[in-house]
Amino acid sequence: MSILRGVGIGQGIATGPVVRMAPALPEPAHETSTRGADAERVRAREAMTAVAADLQQRADAAGGAAQDVLEAQAMIAEDPTLTDEVDARIDEGATAEWAVHDAFAGFRATLEAVGGYLGERAADLDDIAQRVLARLQGVAAPGVPDPGHPFVLVARDLAPADTALLKLDQVLALVTSDGGPTSHTAILAREKGIVAVVGAADAAALTDGTTVIVDAAAGTVNDSPTSEELTAAAERIASRAAEDATPAGPGALADGTPISLLANLGKPADAADAVARGAEGVGLFRTEFLFLGASQAPTIEQQRAAYVELLSAFEGRKVVVRLLDAGADKPLAFLNDAHEENPALGLRGLRALRASEDILREQLTALAEADAATSADLWVMAPMVTTVEETAYFTSLAKEYGLKTAGVMVEVPASALLADRVLAHADFASIGTNDLTQYTMAADRLLGSVAGFQDPWHPAVLRLVREVGDAGARLGKPVGICGEAAADPLLAVVLVGLGATSLSMAPSALSDVRRSISQHTLEDARRIAASVLLADDAAGARAAAVDAAQH
Ligand code: PEP
Ligand code: MG
Repeated sequence: MSILRGVGIGQGIATGPVVRMAPALPEPAHETSTRGADAERVRAREAMTAVAADLQQRADAAGGAAQDVLEAQAMIAEDPTLTDEVDARIDEGATAEWAVHDAFAGFRATLEAVGGYLGERAADLDDIAQRVLARLQGVAAPGVPDPGHPFVLVARDLAPADTALLKLDQVLALVTSDGGPTSHTAILAREKGIVAVVGAADAAALTDGTTVIVDAAAGTVNDSPTSEELTAAAERIASRAAEDATPAGPGALADGTPISLLANLGKPADAADAVARGAEGVGLFRTEFLFLGASQAPTIEQQRAAYVELLSAFEGRKVVVRLLDAGADKPLAFLNDAHEENPALGLRGLRALRASEDILREQLTALAEADAATSADLWVMAPMVTTVEETAYFTSLAKEYGLKTAGVMVEVPASALLADRVLAHADFASIGTNDLTQYTMAADRLLGSVAGFQDPWHPAVLRLVREVGDAGARLGKPVGICGEAAADPLLAVVLVGLGATSLSMAPSALSDVRRSISQHTLEDARRIAASVLLADDAAGARAAAVDAAQH
């Protein structure tokens, strides 16, 4: 029996037959061109242009997260520096095939040396080189398999061009030998809820047709399971499916401490799915999603209709509505259309609302009217609050409109560090870990080149969360988490240990988080959290939590 180890994505488990990704094209021969430099240059240029066009076409067809990655690949295929490198080799007498192979390999080595996010992009570069070579040789590019039955896909790493074409309903699990937790394969697995183990170095030795057990929770691939192990895996698969299908009770720790599990929503139409997945209410309703792309502020009537629809789906339950969060990743022209060099540091969130107080007042009016017409427990909060003064401004304004529970999002280190002062004026705090990570780590959350910094496991981010948790406990005020961090089952336990009293997430994450927190007492969660705060970096924090959770 052999167990391969890698990094599991999510908590799922799957069994099935291995199908390997078609092997790479062989390395071209290093021989002198008989065609001459001019002809080779034209061949190389034509192939690179054609591959770029093909990737762009795939990008347009893919949409979503895959579109951005494919567009970036299309640009690399025609990158002027790479083209110059190819030309330089052709001028020395190389064939177009060798020149492309060698120039891309040089670029790959540079990226790998840099490591981190860029290192994990190295596989993207190999994929583009293979596509150009295939084009030059007139053969089909190595692509994803389609065996006609469900399978466990084993690959070195999946490039965006592959996953865009993958028939996901046939994929039982993904296993890669390269790539880490921020690789494209990992992103895809998280987004689509596919069982995956990435970076399992020995996966290259798996053969077609072998039945394997892929256990993401353990980060393992068992390539010679016994019949008992297969039965146990089948039972876990069935019980996960059953848990997903049955309406869940309220979230709680192993000692019974209640932790509300809430949904992040962007439109009222998604409410039914959230309820079906066991959401106890809404922890973040992103009102700006209703109006992205609008050139004019929405009317009170338009807003009231949307809020009534939302609140009606959660009668008697808590619904936290965030006031319009304009700026940076969520542009709203009617609140701020000025050009800013650093929009994430600009007139955004509550700053933009305050600059257009009439729009803020209209939104509060619409919320108060919807509240009066329905029986949900409406809480309102302001986005990106930085100062105590801003907190007092917003909460007193909300009360003016009769909104009884008014709080703030803690997304900026300043408000986390002064959480005790902030919470003196607010009924509750909700920590937006996406922005809190961006501002703590000084890394634009939209920039792929610094994506390695955007990790909420970083102890610097978690120490700020502790500040807010401690202040909430001292003042007896609720502290929620509504960033992506709450959707990570183990990090959710850490956040509770740091003082979070509710967790809000994409509805698809609710059942794994519910299961994870139910396995730890409050005392456990505090012990795990304490170990994490002593780490030097995000990877160390994760490892400390895994270790502490097992003892
Ligand atoms: C956050 O920043 O963590 C958050 C929940 O808000 P958004 O992602 O919408 O900025
Ligand atoms: Mg935010």
